[in-house]
Amino acid sequence: MRKIILPVLAGLLAACTAVTVAVGSAAAEPEPVATQDVHASDGCYTWPRNLSQGASGEDVRQLQIRVSGYPGYGAVLALDGQFGPGTKAAVTRFQQAYGLSADGVAGPQTFSTIYALQDDDCTPVNFAYPELNHCNSDWSGGMVSASQARANALVTMWKLQALRHALGDRPIGVNSGFRSVACNNAAGGAANSRHMYGDAADLAAGSQGFCTIAQQARNHGFSELLGPGYPDHNDHVHVANRSGQFWSAPNCGI
Ligand SMILES: [Zn+2]
Repeated sequence: MRKIILPVLAGLLAACTAVTVAVGSAAAEPEPVATQDVHASDGCYTWPRNLSQGASGEDVRQLQIRVSGYPGYGAVLALDGQFGPGTKAAVTRFQQAYGLSADGVAGPQTFSTIYALQDDDCTPVNFAYPELNHCNSDWSGGMVSASQARANALVTMWKLQALRHALGDRPIGVNSGFRSVACNNAAGGAANSRHMYGDAADLAAGSQGFCTIAQQARNHGFSELLGPGYPDHNDHVHVANRSGQFWSAPNCGI
């Protein structure tokens, strides 16, 4: 998170842009370039280059995680490290959501916005690992490895951050996230519950209300969505990732 530095960074970016234009138009005198300052490191992850359609690699995958909440209605963004049309569209929606120039290319403005949105452990600023795990502290005992469960929860948090931002940046509470098999059994969870994979979250009504949350969640990358009117879901909205889409919240028109 680097929110304090942003105004300074904006100034540097403007200066850098001006320098780049001058160099690009074959100015007679070379000018000092401040790119090291523009790409100042972040506590979690620092992108080493701008990213656009056609790029591939781990830095693309890191970007995909951050924009996974912007796949469009009913869609899920693949976290495959390949910057294709879906990633471009997600980056564009992210840029629109934060008032950036929306060209689908991840450059300094986009990365600065992400840096300001993430904590040093790579979680988005409004969510944290303990909120996504009321079962244990080491993420063990689920249906996937502890590291995979934790990684799944990270993606879910970025989707929740997108949902939260779309609903006016009002708090969203998570009543239950990751559950080991034992925790899931104790909670009376379904035998195939996504909570055991780390990507599920049971959301409180907050000031938004269940149906507002459930309806908006359809835009933010959750292929599993259960809410009021679905058995045992009148007191929370359950969102998760799964293969194939399953949405049901009849009392909310879903
Ligand atoms: Zn649930």
